[in-house]
Amino acid sequence: MKVTEHIARRKGTLLSFEILPPLKGRSIQSIYDTLDPLMDFRPSFINVTYHRAEYIYRKNADGLFEKVFVRKRPGTVGICAAIVNRYQVDAVPHMVCGGFTKEETEDALIDLAYLGINNLLVVRGDPERSERVFEPEPGGHRYAIELLRQVVNMNRGIYLEEDLTDVQPTDFCIGVAGYPEKHYEAPNMKTDLFYLKAKVDAGAHYIVTQMFFDNRHYFSFVEQCRAMGITVPIIPGIKPITTRQQISTLPRQFHIELPADLVDALLKTHTDAEARQVGKEWAIQQCRELLRADVPVLHFYTMSNPKPIVEIVKALF
Ligand code: FAD
Repeated sequence: MKVTEHIARRKGTLLSFEILPPLKGRSIQSIYDTLDPLMDFRPSFINVTYHRAEYIYRKNADGLFEKVFVRKRPGTVGICAAIVNRYQVDAVPHMVCGGFTKEETEDALIDLAYLGINNLLVVRGDPERSERVFEPEPGGHRYAIELLRQVVNMNRGIYLEEDLTDVQPTDFCIGVAGYPEKHYEAPNMKTDLFYLKAKVDAGAHYIVTQMFFDNRHYFSFVEQCRAMGITVPIIPGIKPITTRQQISTLPRQFHIELPADLVDALLKTHTDAEARQVGKEWAIQQCRELLRADVPVLHFYTMSNPKPIVEIVKALF
């Protein structure tokens, strides 16, 4: 079922989880180990992130550095198929612009359609670690909206080659990313919302937000979206703090702020176990308020660590 169908039929707030593919070489069992304890909560769908291949410098035995092209977390499409097969739950693969030509994107979409996977979250992807700004693949997409338009075209039966015969349209339900605290490259919130609205006008069916730790950011974001005519569901993304180090790593990596009360409580902790407890309690309070606001879905960023999510969801439902 499509994400939007789940939302249309909901009787209360739904649950969904985002997982990462395992590091290359590890087995699919690590995905099952993450998901098995979460499936008791009957999530409506599971998102699987996509990780582009990138150039890294590897030090050889002779001390010289070699430039190599590696994909650390391959397997998004296969994991989605495995999830559907094992749990009979809908899987939402993420599709990125970075590292893909339009032809490779089309091939990946055809694979997904053949597998019966008709949900997608389309995002641009971040710049490679070796790049300062995002550079598309030659013949690829620069912004998520361009990738979105390619999917919308395929949903209309328009493929890259124009002379195909007996063409079957795909039927993808398409989510896009939104940023309650603004995307870090956008000059201001108004501009960022302008481009978000463009994605919705181009055919996005729903929005999933970046993580946030102060619900006021989410409520204000939804209000601003509604004021400018964005009517699609806006799914809040929740990430519980699980280590002390995340006080600095999360703001740096995701360009979000941590409220002073949360940071004060975390600074009083001495171990990751104590920090995890603070993070859990904070997330429970956040989720309780979001549930009272009847958000369509609570979407948890698991970071492949199910334990804190299990404890939070148990406390909520
Ligand atoms: P875009 O919508 O293309 O926006 C990027 C920036 O460009 C924004 O500042 C926007 O305001 C601006 N912009 C947009 N259109 C235009 C235009 N036409 N002209 C000028 N400026 C424009 N990354 C991964 O690599 N893999 C994942 O699986 C993944 N999953 C994610 C899931 C969620 C829910 C979220 C919130 C993010 C995810 N990301 C993922 C991270 C995402 O790729 C980055 O945040 C990326 O920097 C931006 O992606 P986007 O789709 O929002 O880009």
